[in-house]
Amino acid sequence: MPVLRDLFINLSENQLLNSAAQKYGLRLGAQSVVAGTNIPEVIKSIKELNAQGISCTVDNLGEFVFERSEATKAKERILEVIQAIHENDVDAHISLKPSQLGLDIDYDFCYGNLEEIVDLASTYKMHINLDMEDYDRLQPSFDLLDQLSQKYDNVGTVIQAYFFNAAENIEKYKNFRLRIVKGAYKEPAEVAYQNKHDIDLNFIDLIEYHLLNGKFTSIATHDHNVINHVKQFVKDHDISNDKFEFQMLYGFRKEMQLELAKEGYNFCTYVPFGDDWYGYFMRRLAERPQNLNLVTKQVFTK
Ligand code: FAD
Repeated sequence: MPVLRDLFINLSENQLLNSAAQKYGLRLGAQSVVAGTNIPEVIKSIKELNAQGISCTVDNLGEFVFERSEATKAKERILEVIQAIHENDVDAHISLKPSQLGLDIDYDFCYGNLEEIVDLASTYKMHINLDMEDYDRLQPSFDLLDQLSQKYDNVGTVIQAYFFNAAENIEKYKNFRLRIVKGAYKEPAEVAYQNKHDIDLNFIDLIEYHLLNGKFTSIATHDHNVINHVKQFVKDHDISNDKFEFQMLYGFRKEMQLELAKEGYNFCTYVPFGDDWYGYFMRRLAERPQNLNLVTKQVFTK
């Protein structure tokens, strides 16, 4: 399985295949895990989820952008999404990747793009989550958060449990709304745990730490063992449901998503949309090669 994981992570970073994928639209099973390619389609998906008691965090797909014009286009698109969420009065906020907004081009350019987004969202009291990418972009992304949080309080980020420095960072950002995840990229042994058991243990420690802190915690996982542990932990520590939510990705474990919402937990689905779905989809295959079933089903049921 680690061989397949590495293969899909390498594929996720292949620029040539990424451009080819954009040309061919939502193929190879991606339509099961990507909620459309345009804003009306994603608003429709959000409305369907909201009707089932599920809130959404919307990701305009795209990452590792190296052209200013492309980053500006992404910013404009995200501003339109914020406007559309507001005008349609749906229960949703935004997740975005700093590299899509020009982090790899120039820090100040990226900050300017982000500031416009966070500023518009703040007028609608909408939360903006800075998704975390790979280790090289970890500190610059925290720097962006530090700078933004001097002016705005509607911004938060992600703590990735596979990093050795995750405990240090969660302490530093204990006053923020945080999403806690295991971590999706391939990282070297010098900076990150490689073993599932170690990652899982750290994941639980981080979740418990932030829940006890009392700041809003998004527990983002498809792992039923972790979810069951959290359910017991909040009960034992009298942590009320309004202090946390479970999050899963669009199209994954749909029945469990509904069940958690029905049980009365806050549930938020991460809803990706857009043309630039390739890297996102390959990382999902890397995490769980069984997701290849999605591909084969789509190919053979056409
Ligand atoms: P895994 O360790 O993949 O799975 C644990 C167990 O759960 C499996 O063995 C299986 O028994 C069960 N399971 C898992 N998936 C399924 C399934 N589809 N069907 C049935 N059983 C299943 N990563 C980042 O690096 N940065 C981010 O900003 C980020 N944001 C995220 C946001 C959300 C909402 C989510 C859900 C994930 C995000 N991730 C992010 C990805 C995350 O880091 C993990 O790579 C990903 O969630 C896989 O780990 P897992 O916790 O879901 O469980």
